[in-house]
Amino acid sequence: MKNRTPAGETMPTLADTDRIQDIAGHFRKIIALLGLDLEDPNLVETPERVAKMYLELFQGLSDGAEPKVTFFPNDEHYSAMVIEKDIPFYSLCSHHFVPFYGHAHVAYIPNASIVGLSKMARIVEFYARRPQLQERLTEQIARYMAEKLDPQGVMVVIEARHLCVEMRGVKKPGAVTVTSAIRGIFNTQSVREEFLDLLDRRGP
Ligand SMILES: [Zn+2]
Repeated sequence: MKNRTPAGETMPTLADTDRIQDIAGHFRKIIALLGLDLEDPNLVETPERVAKMYLELFQGLSDGAEPKVTFFPNDEHYSAMVIEKDIPFYSLCSHHFVPFYGHAHVAYIPNASIVGLSKMARIVEFYARRPQLQERLTEQIARYMAEKLDPQGVMVVIEARHLCVEMRGVKKPGAVTVTSAIRGIFNTQSVREEFLDLLDRRGP
């Protein structure tokens, strides 16, 4: 097993097939402890299904899962804002292992490099595919962009619904949690406001 950070940055190095068997075995016990009938045809293969699903949903933890992001020289000396908005994502909250999902909006103002637009969605997906907190997801995307792209600034806004808030506990269906992370020139109020204004504008 590798050392894991509190944020769960890497998965253990067991082969996937061994891991699926292990997770399924534990999940089978959970089903039994809940008093359910493991012979029920709808439950019989559930442990393996759940195990495979977790590996899929937590793919961002696997070695080599980091997206290959190509940066291009900013030959046009573009110095205004680049925004990729309404990037859909699905994740599972670290606290309850139930889904939270919504949209990420990512903006940056380049220096010497620009990034392919589709890559911002890949970066969001990479960090969403792990047990996550919305706050941390927002920060990780901003940090990645700031470190790899070295822009004048970057800002990430995430709007999401958390099923652990809607289905259980305080049961507030429809509540939306909004988080933001800011680097560089987006600390300037006018820049931040330009981004937020452009977010409000309806798309094509
Ligand atoms: Zn939760």
